[in-house]
Amino acid sequence: MSKVSGRTERVAQAGETMIKVENLKKHYGGGGVFAQPSVKAVDGVNFSIKRGETLGLVGESGCGKSTLGRTLIRLEEATEGTISFDGTDVTTLTGDELKDWRRNAQMVFQDPESSLNDRMTIGEIIREPLDAHDWKDKQDRQERALDLLTAVGLREEHYYRYPHQFSGGQRQRVGIARALALEPEFIVLDEPVSALDVSVQAKIITLLEDLQEEFDLTYLFIAHDLSVVRHICDRVAVMYLGKIMEIGETEELYENAHNPYTRSLLSAIPHPDPSSSSHRITLPGTPPSPRDPPTGCQFSTRCPAKIRPEEYAHVEHEVWDAIERYREVVRERSRMSLGTFDRLKRSVGRFSAYDDIDETVADLFDDLDVPADIREHVETAAELVKDGRPEDARSHLIDEFNGVCDMQRPELHQVANGGHLSYCHRHTDEYEDVDPVITRRTRDT
Ligand code: SF4
Repeated sequence: MSKVSGRTERVAQAGETMIKVENLKKHYGGGGVFAQPSVKAVDGVNFSIKRGETLGLVGESGCGKSTLGRTLIRLEEATEGTISFDGTDVTTLTGDELKDWRRNAQMVFQDPESSLNDRMTIGEIIREPLDAHDWKDKQDRQERALDLLTAVGLREEHYYRYPHQFSGGQRQRVGIARALALEPEFIVLDEPVSALDVSVQAKIITLLEDLQEEFDLTYLFIAHDLSVVRHICDRVAVMYLGKIMEIGETEELYENAHNPYTRSLLSAIPHPDPSSSSHRITLPGTPPSPRDPPTGCQFSTRCPAKIRPEEYAHVEHEVWDAIERYREVVRERSRMSLGTFDRLKRSVGRFSAYDDIDETVADLFDDLDVPADIREHVETAAELVKDGRPEDARSHLIDEFNGVCDMQRPELHQVANGGHLSYCHRHTDEYEDVDPVITRRTRDT
């Protein structure tokens, strides 16, 4: 019998480790001689999920959280790493064992408008996975689909209706019934309530909680709404640019976040008390491309607590932020290749993609009190860009302004009890802790 085929074959204990993920990577593309660098959607993550718990996975859109969820249930193939389910690595399963894993691990998708086939009746949609796995006989399959309709709060007469006859909330109930059809133990809920009205969201969340208890389910709950996650999840993992930045028990993490990225995400939640002294941390710029992530910490291009090189430790925040934005612009320029036509136009003094760098320098630095040595480095890089050598400009800025956060990947450090881990150089004795740095920044801005 397969080790991954489901609840009927094993007496498992709530609270024991069910899924263990080690160094999991999912990269797309790359590989050929002329190919672009690969997209590093998930870039080496480690975590575990306990039986019966709900682990939340949060982060901005594009951070890799949906890809991670899809890779766990093998809708995507892992590039590297392992996903152990009760000790069996599911990334290597094939044939019947893979089929068993797919039966035991299901997914509920974000958009109930597009995730259901409009040409099938509700009954056919719920029954489809049972038919595909040849589950018992036709009569049993129909009875199971009818039972599931009731379990998710719909009625038996809905069996012969079509998705377009239902509201968004009802359609999501159908999606949940379908995911439950094969009696899975583990369900990935990929933004299951984001597309719904707030009042409907609460009902679906309650339904998911009730079903978890009734059917002993384990959830990975993917979301960008931090309030919803706080309500439903036992533990939370925070993801940025393919990496888990912090993971811990929900209340501990919300009340005592250690990672600068988590701190900035949480600071964006509106505070019920307007007189509260908590400050919002506004992150500059946008996340870098996952094709070209930073060499060091993934968050290093936007981090409000980034460790600077010694000689720039006392430069004003505004000046340092302008340097980071400038580096981002030059970094993007170095990724653009100047085509033959642009080169020709440039040779006769016409447009080139590189020629507006002076404008960028003026926009970023002219209103600031910039020390002479920094001004000199900024201008040297601008000249290199105008010379058509943006890679050299990027290297010049790297040589001058790179610090440990740019150059070295941090480790995951234990920051509190209960398996609370955070990925940051500032958790070592060598550097000042995150808290005073963030406090100074928010006070000064
Ligand atoms: S390692 Fe550096 S850049 Fe990354 S979160 Fe910590 S302080 Fe910020």
